[in-house]
Amino acid sequence: MDETHAPDAKPLRNGTAQPRALPSARPPGAARRRAAFPSSPEARAFRRRFFPEASAADWSDWRWQLRARIRSLDGLAQVFSLSEDERAAVARRQSGLPVGITPYYASLMGLDDPAEPLRRTHIPVGQEYLRLPGESDDPLGETPDSKVPGLVHRYPDRVLFLATGTCSTYCRYCTRSRMVGQPGGEEGISTRNWERAFAYIAAHPQIRDVLVSGGDPLTLSDDKLDYLLGRLRAIPHVEFIRIGTKVPLVLPMRITGALTRMLRRHHPLWMSLHCTHPAELAPEATEALTRLADAGIPLGAQTVLLRGINDTVETMRTLCRGLLKRRVRPYYLLQCDPITGSGQFRTPIETGLAIIDGLRGHLTGYAVPHFAIDAPGGGGKVALVPDHVAGREGDDLLLRNFEGRIYRYPDPGGRTGARD
Ligand code: SF4
Repeated sequence: MDETHAPDAKPLRNGTAQPRALPSARPPGAARRRAAFPSSPEARAFRRRFFPEASAADWSDWRWQLRARIRSLDGLAQVFSLSEDERAAVARRQSGLPVGITPYYASLMGLDDPAEPLRRTHIPVGQEYLRLPGESDDPLGETPDSKVPGLVHRYPDRVLFLATGTCSTYCRYCTRSRMVGQPGGEEGISTRNWERAFAYIAAHPQIRDVLVSGGDPLTLSDDKLDYLLGRLRAIPHVEFIRIGTKVPLVLPMRITGALTRMLRRHHPLWMSLHCTHPAELAPEATEALTRLADAGIPLGAQTVLLRGINDTVETMRTLCRGLLKRRVRPYYLLQCDPITGSGQFRTPIETGLAIIDGLRGHLTGYAVPHFAIDAPGGGGKVALVPDHVAGREGDDLLLRNFEGRIYRYPDPGGRTGARD
C-alpha cells in the first residue's frame, strides 16, 4: 500500500463533535459479509468514544484499521492527552519514520499517561532527534549486504527478503527506520524488486531459508503474499520460509480465515512475531495467535529490550509466560540496536543478562529466550549468557543455580567422559 494514500481517520473525543465521514464508503451489505472478529469490551468502548461512526464490522476489518491509522498531530491530539514533549516532537517531524498507530493498537495504550509502555514505543518524543556516539541510521550494515534492492544476504544459508516498506504501526526504535514508511523506501522496497530477489535466490543454491520481512509482510494483500510465497516455494532449494511480523499484536483482525487458509498452502512456514509488552496480549491478539497456531504455523517471538518499557524481570516473566500460553515460543530478547535516536530506549548489557538470570529456573525452558546483540556493522547475532560457572575446586566444577546456590559437578581434571 502506498503510504501517501492512508489518510488519518478523524477520531472524536467523547463522541461530542460532529462525526466526520469514515475513511471508506461501504457498499450495502458489505458489513454483513465480513467475517466477524471478536472485540473486547474495552476496544468497543474506545471505538464508540473516538470513532463513533465506525461500525463493529468496520472495526474488525483490517483494511479499515489501516486506512484509519492515527498519523498526524491532530489525530493524536484527539485521542491522547499529549505532553508538550510529544506535541513538539510530532510537530517537528518532517521526514523519516512516520507516525502510524492503528485505532485498535491505540485502544491498548494509556490515553493520559505519556509513560505508558505501548504509547512510549509509538509516539515520538524530543530524544528521538538526539544522535549519541555510536548510533547510526544503518547500524547493522544491511545496505552493504544487500545483493539486490530489498534482499540482504549475510549468513551463508539464509536471506532477509524485505517485501514491503509499509507497517501497520511504526515503532520509534525501528532498526529499519531509514527505509520503512516511505513509498518505495530508500532501498526501493517494493514489488518492483521482487523479481530480482527471486532470481538471486534461485541462482544461489546454498540459500535454504528465507525470512520475509520489511516493513511488515502481513500488510500485503492475500493475493500478493500468496504470489510471493508461491514463488519462493517454487525454488527447489528453499526449504524453509519465515514471516517476520508485528501484525497479530497491532492489527489482529488481519488474521482472517482466508489468510490462514492461504498460508497453510505454503508449509513449512514459520512466523517470527515482534512482541514488546504483556499489554499487547489482549483478547484480540490471543484470537489471532490461536488462528495462526491452529493453521499449523510454528510461532516464535522476538522482543527488543527497551528501557522503561520491558526492562524488568517481572515484565519479561509476564510476557514470556503469556506468549507460551498462547503457543508462541519466546526465542530472542534482543539488545536494542544503536539506531539514531535510540538512546532513550537502550539499556546496559547487564540489564539483559540480569533478566535472563531472573527467567531461567523460574520459567519452563521453552519460555526463556536467548539474549542477543546484533553486532553492529553486519556481524550477525551474538548470544550473551549469564555466567553460571562459579569456578573450580579440585576435581569439582562449581555451578551457581537459579537461586544463587552453589552445586558441585564431578569433573576430574576437566576430562569428564574422556576415555584415556
Ligand atoms: S513493525 Fe518492525 S519494521 Fe515496522 S516499524 Fe516496527 S520494528 Fe520497524
